[in-house]
Amino acid sequence: MKSILDVQNLSVSFAVYGGEVQAVRDVSFDVKEGEAVAIVGESGSGKSVTAQTIMRLIQTPPGKIKKGKVFLDGQDLMSLSEKEMQKVRGNKIGMIFQDPMTSLNPTMTVGKQIMEGLIQHQSLSGAKANERVLELLTLVGIPNPETRINQYPHQFSGGMRQRVMIAIALACTPALLIADEPTTALDVTIQAQILTLMKDLQEKTKTSIILITHDLGIVADICDRVIVMYAGQIVETGTKHEIFSNPQHPYTKGLLKSLPRLDQAKDEPLIPIFGTPPDLIKPPQGCGFCSRCDSAMRICETEIPEQTKISDTQSVRCWLQHPYAKEQGSDAGKEA
Ligand code: SF4
Ligand code: MG
Repeated sequence: MKSILDVQNLSVSFAVYGGEVQAVRDVSFDVKEGEAVAIVGESGSGKSVTAQTIMRLIQTPPGKIKKGKVFLDGQDLMSLSEKEMQKVRGNKIGMIFQDPMTSLNPTMTVGKQIMEGLIQHQSLSGAKANERVLELLTLVGIPNPETRINQYPHQFSGGMRQRVMIAIALACTPALLIADEPTTALDVTIQAQILTLMKDLQEKTKTSIILITHDLGIVADICDRVIVMYAGQIVETGTKHEIFSNPQHPYTKGLLKSLPRLDQAKDEPLIPIFGTPPDLIKPPQGCGFCSRCDSAMRICETEIPEQTKISDTQSVRCWLQHPYAKEQGSDAGKEA
């Protein structure tokens, strides 16, 4: 299948008092046509910065794209002017953010807000755009679209506002939809409805999706593939099945153990991952997870493990799976 998005060796930092936070460190991945990919990790793992860099929404300075390339359908986004990039955002890439109230304009009817992109990017006439807005409101499951089109954001519930955001994001039938924690601000039942809606729409429209979340639990429902980020790096990637049934990285395993399961015994506790992520002003010399990892070996402290392929679709960045450590036995480097 063809890649719609290709991110190559992306590194992004932010100037802060006392140094530079290395927020994204050498991140590479692709998203295929019609595929839904989740990027999972704790806050500060670099997942949102990765998404914002793809959309060229990070402020420079203090942000700095130190290296890397991003191709959308073959077009090098890093080389575009801001004006050219505006034609990509909202048109070829749709975006949904965490809090629909802050992303919507409170002084404008939702109809006008959905229409904006259509008029700007697709130069539809007023009547045609109006027709399309009604169609979109119906598509995202908002009842009485003829009334709703003329209402303001405060007249919508949180879940309905997020549906409006999805309508805006899908208005120009983008090739890629990036959703950053789209359900975090919503209560649990509404969360489930929005995720189901996103999945239905993805199947209908064949749009590729990047879903960014700290919650591995919601990934299972809608994603084909999972990318796990930790301390600015991709530590594991695989199909949803591989990540849930055969996780390789100690961090991925930790994330899974901290999730409630249906088959869990009542008295079986959820196990949190102890410790905190490293300071990315001075990233660790070796594996970023070292200070929290029960399996850490001597080599983990001094050298960043390379990606090791587990299958055609799964790879992990951990010395435990690296051929070098396997050759040396599980004590690799311990006595060094
Ligand atoms: Fe743990 Fe070492 Fe693997 Fe890092 S490389 S996750 S410290 S075993
Ligand atoms: Mg974030």
